[in-house]
Amino acid sequence: MRNHVMAGNWKMNKTFSEAVELASGLAAELKGGVGDVDVIVAPPAVDLKGVAEVIEQEQAPFALSAQNVYFEESGAYTGETSPSMLESVGATYCIIGHSERRGYFGETDEDVNKKAKKLMEHGIVPISCCGESLEVREAGKHVEFVCDQVRRDTEGLDLSDPSKYIIAYEPIWAIGTGKTATADDAEEVCGAIRRTLAEVFGQETADGVRILYGGSAKPGNVGGFLEKDDVDGALVGGASLKADSFAEMVRAA
Ligand code: 13P
Repeated sequence: MRNHVMAGNWKMNKTFSEAVELASGLAAELKGGVGDVDVIVAPPAVDLKGVAEVIEQEQAPFALSAQNVYFEESGAYTGETSPSMLESVGATYCIIGHSERRGYFGETDEDVNKKAKKLMEHGIVPISCCGESLEVREAGKHVEFVCDQVRRDTEGLDLSDPSKYIIAYEPIWAIGTGKTATADDAEEVCGAIRRTLAEVFGQETADGVRILYGGSAKPGNVGGFLEKDDVDGALVGGASLKADSFAEMVRAA
């Protein structure tokens, strides 16, 4: 059985004090416990340590994720953050290959694959994003497109512990637009991703990897996605920036 995951991607929002405040608010909201849901928050890099301290002080039932990483250990890579640095501030997850990074910063499947390998060497769980543009969807090629991304992003990975690798299916046209995919749209692609994993890594691995939906997920619609067999949670942008709405989504999981 796969535990559900509710992950909040704060993107480039929240100053240090605002991030601490949001984390504290979420800790208060979730004081009653979260059952067996894996709750994750992904603040901006400069806020990671502050949120880690809130988690420790409040014994908060959520884990810390970064939003990006570089695949080298150290060196002359101005502006980048290594896996050891993330590890040193208590990040146990890291989002990679978000469509905003692919679109604005030229991240490729090869980069995403290298990042996953490095993170896993450090025991950090990748949350690897994939998803098609509106153009690809309108051409009816979304399933093929996303499964090809997944094949390239997972190439050569050791998924012998499938609980240590998470995929987030985020159709680009649904991100921040208020246009959500339907639960059936999400299931179509998440199911196809799982079948691709089964072809490459075997059924047991495919059955253990959590596959999340992302794109305008909010308290009012998340329940419908979670009812689907192959959707194991959500990666939430906008609705994770308010403690009460994100907590409501956690409770729905
Ligand atoms: P929104 O929930 O704001 O659409 O963002 C989704 C997303 O990109 C999460 O990574």
